Amino acid sequence: MNRAFGLCFLALWSAWSNACDDNQARAAIGRLAQKSPTGYALYQKTAQYSSARSIFLSMLKGGYGGQCDLTTAVHEGAHILAGPENSNRYHLITGETVPRIGEEAVFFKPKELYSKFKTFPESNYLGDTKKDAPSSVDEFGYLLDEFNSYTWDAQVSLDLGDGIEANGMLQFMQFVAAYIERAAQAHPATYNRLTTAPSRTPVAKLWTQAHDVLAKVCARSGFSSPYLKGACSAGQNSSLTKLVGEKAHCPASCRGFASGSPTPSRPPSIVDFARPNRPAPSNSGTQFMMSIPGISR
Ligand SMILES: [Zn+2]
Repeated sequence: MNRAFGLCFLALWSAWSNACDDNQARAAIGRLAQKSPTGYALYQKTAQYSSARSIFLSMLKGGYGGQCDLTTAVHEGAHILAGPENSNRYHLITGETVPRIGEEAVFFKPKELYSKFKTFPESNYLGDTKKDAPSSVDEFGYLLDEFNSYTWDAQVSLDLGDGIEANGMLQFMQFVAAYIERAAQAHPATYNRLTTAPSRTPVAKLWTQAHDVLAKVCARSGFSSPYLKGACSAGQNSSLTKLVGEKAHCPASCRGFASGSPTPSRPPSIVDFARPNRPAPSNSGTQFMMSIPGISR
């Protein structure tokens, strides 16, 4: 699917669903500015890159549930900013950026982890091999990109107070921890790279970021997640601790939570609807291509 078709699809979707008109979108951005300063800062950054602002707004307008979808817009905005064609860096919630991990043979393919997580709702990020564009299935750098976007989901949903979306982040914490553990056990070259600069910095910072967001999530009354226990257990592996330090461990505010049964980590937004069984894209040139309908991302 090409980019123009993707945008066209979005426009048609928006018109059909009437989810969020221009006035509502403006109001939603205002709400983001008021309630989520970090999410708004990301929105402002989208003005720096060609097409990034319009893609952000398209995602906002193509929202789920008949309303503007700020969380999905920020999630996709983080992808766009991090794209190799844009900053080629992960944009963190603090406003800091860290270098993106590129395509290098030393990083084994994340799909090696699929069998371990195949019952997880987000396992398609490890096991969907139907596409030929770069993705988290084959590249660790994309897995980290997705980890960052799902951490943004948790932060922005926390800020907005509409219901916490942390299940995705909790699953990706497990994926990343398992990647590091597997590297330590079976891929010494990968592990050596992960534990030395410059690759260590983005991994450690992304994990630390998720840890800090999770600490706030757990402090919010009423929070529970079937993936919390696994994320906290994942933090016990010594290779992760070696790489990220003390914050490998479960935040104090999360200890003692019970686990439940698996549920989808995000509402079925326009992006999620498109995930299963998509045709391979004909053009794999941009990060954006991975996040529009037609491409699993
Ligand atoms: Zn994503």
